Amino acid sequence: MRLSPAAIFKDRARFKRKSATNEERFSRIHPSQRVLLLSHCLRSSKGCKAKIEPWGVDCVGCNPSCQVNRLKKTALDSGYKAVCVAPGGSLALKFVKENNPLGIVAVACRKELEEGMENVQKLIKKKSGPAPAIVIIPLTKDGCVDTEVNIEAAVSKISLGCESGINDCNERLCKNPALK
Ligand code: SF4
Repeated sequence: MRLSPAAIFKDRARFKRKSATNEERFSRIHPSQRVLLLSHCLRSSKGCKAKIEPWGVDCVGCNPSCQVNRLKKTALDSGYKAVCVAPGGSLALKFVKENNPLGIVAVACRKELEEGMENVQKLIKKKSGPAPAIVIIPLTKDGCVDTEVNIEAAVSKISLGCESGINDCNERLCKNPALK
């Protein structure tokens, strides 16, 4: 279902409030301590060559214009620790538990994002250590297949802290010990 401009605006305002406070902290986290979570419904349903594995959707990069491919590539080129294309919230939470990141970017529908934030908060309460900074990016067209996100906005969030460009991100943050 494509959201109306009014609904998108309302959503953006609500999620912006939740996300904004985390973005400054997130931008200071080294890429090697960040992970990207993508909802599997962002992939192109026609001709997708990915297999569903126990750890999630195994994207083989068959389509250069596929949203999953583009966002995954952006994260890995920036030096992210890992990317999970999750078919559901429970697998995404398992991935977070296993990778224990300091920064998380999550792209999903509103419901999954809200549930995911709650579950990560519960997870943090159970373990010691700093809470991860979570940057959330809601879909602009939801549903369970061929959903859409604003790619430019998502790339920009994934690259937070990389003002000079994606390729410079890893190197610049690596040179600043305060950000490691
Ligand atoms: S690039 Fe990955 S997710 Fe996209 S259609 Fe190909 S295998 Fe599927």
